[in-house]
Amino acid sequence: MRVTRKGFLRTFVGAGLAGGFAGRWLEGLLLAQERAKVPVRSTRIRDVEILPFSLAQNTVIHIALGSVSTTDNVFVRLRTEDGVVGSGEASPYAAITGETQQSNVAVGRNLADLVRGRDPFSLARIVADMEAFAPGNPSIKAALEMALWDICGQIAQQPVHALLGTYRETFETDKTIFIDTPEASAKAAKGVVADGFKVIKIKVGESPEKDAARLRAVREAVGPQIGLRVDANQGWTPGDAVRSLRAIEQYGVQFCEQPVVYWDWDGMKFVRDNVGIPIMGDESVHVPHDVMEGIRRNAIDMVNIKLMKAGGVMQGMRIAQIADAANMKCMVGCMQETRLGLTAAAHLVASQKNIEYADLDAFFVHMSDPIIGGMQVKNGMVSLPRAPGLGLEIDPAFLKKLKAA
Ligand SMILES: [Mg+2]
Repeated sequence: MRVTRKGFLRTFVGAGLAGGFAGRWLEGLLLAQERAKVPVRSTRIRDVEILPFSLAQNTVIHIALGSVSTTDNVFVRLRTEDGVVGSGEASPYAAITGETQQSNVAVGRNLADLVRGRDPFSLARIVADMEAFAPGNPSIKAALEMALWDICGQIAQQPVHALLGTYRETFETDKTIFIDTPEASAKAAKGVVADGFKVIKIKVGESPEKDAARLRAVREAVGPQIGLRVDANQGWTPGDAVRSLRAIEQYGVQFCEQPVVYWDWDGMKFVRDNVGIPIMGDESVHVPHDVMEGIRRNAIDMVNIKLMKAGGVMQGMRIAQIADAANMKCMVGCMQETRLGLTAAAHLVASQKNIEYADLDAFFVHMSDPIIGGMQVKNGMVSLPRAPGLGLEIDPAFLKKLKAA
């Protein structure tokens, strides 16, 4: 009779024939031997590819900060010496982080030198080195960092949210409607509801009268059951913010993002002290020390985390955890990412208890979707694939058309 190790444990040790201390000692020894046989894979990043690309949009994005009619992003692809490929994306938004596609490519070349030759699992050290190399440039840092997570997940054969510590596997996202007339906003809102979304984010920040007229039109169009949240994108003065928010409170608003200009913490606090709607810091909060500032000043109730402001998943996680220690809820939002960057953001949402809101809808404005796999949105619910890493790839047909910088 052939006795396997497992069979031996079950028959002799498990049944107690070799019981007591000797049994436990033997069991421990055999398990340690089993464990030692699982190799710890060690590999290094060999190649870094930086791939700028553009996507046409099905709509012009009108917000208080200005209008955007095309998406100009950057993919990065990292390859380990044993052939594992990780993908990342930067979606630079000049008005918010000071980055453009061109600056992402230029700085990306420098940052590539900090990534090449490194063990992908030394992620915290690589993030620290990128921060030390140059402050800012968060979008291209986020692209490289999410590609490292993608590789780590593939090596560990686990989805990224499992590496971070899974809290939830599905969650709700809103869908955004941009600044327009009250009639057009009401029509757009009805379309969002028809698509199955239960929450609508409405861009505001024009004037108290115009914003109130739009909120009224949207609430009347969608009825009382749909959640509404607003984002002023720094468009109001502190006084106008108070007037606007007091006027729209009656329409049932969950929270308001960034009522005043990003550097005006006193203005943020003034608004927070004078309205009933919770105030969420977005453009004021890029990185972990910004959320500390907001907490110290009692200027915000919530935070909108974006990988493209924070510089990646790890920095986003730090923001969430600082906010959590201040009993504060977070949202994870986006710039104009494809489902690649959005999927990395979704893994962050899946891993943090106090990230209770999501605004991961950017890909709906794109005329095409160059990502295979990744997060899916159905009836407003986001789900992540049960696959290692980010769980996606860039469509090879799309990739073929790109030129590495
Ligand atoms: Mg915002």
